[in-house]
Amino acid sequence: MSELLPCPFCGSQDTDPAFSRGYAKGDMTQPVIAAGCMSCGASGADVPVPDHSTGYEQAAEAWNRRHVPEGWQCVPVAATREMVEAAHAEYEGEAYLPNGLYRAMIQAAPKPGGGDDRT
Ligand SMILES: [Zn+2]
Repeated sequence: MSELLPCPFCGSQDTDPAFSRGYAKGDMTQPVIAAGCMSCGASGADVPVPDHSTGYEQAAEAWNRRHVPEGWQCVPVAATREMVEAAHAEYEGEAYLPNGLYRAMIQAAPKPGGGDDRT
């Protein structure tokens, strides 16, 4: 079975290939499973399966496709107050160039699920 990559949102390694089991939207006869993160609750795509005891490999593959590449980070669509304040603090400092503001906002961005490993 494919090993699940860490959660792209919180970075947790605590992932489960059968995180959720249910039925396809609009088709209560089609079982689906999805891999997901036990730490923040993020879920991968629903994968149609013959029954709920199969399809772990496909669920793992679907999960792994959403992995965030090294050097990338998920951030909120709208800047949070903390991100704006970080940019403002950076602007008041000596480094007010766009790269400095961007870096400050990225570092202040919350992690989905509430994890926080800012440096
Ligand atoms: Zn997570």
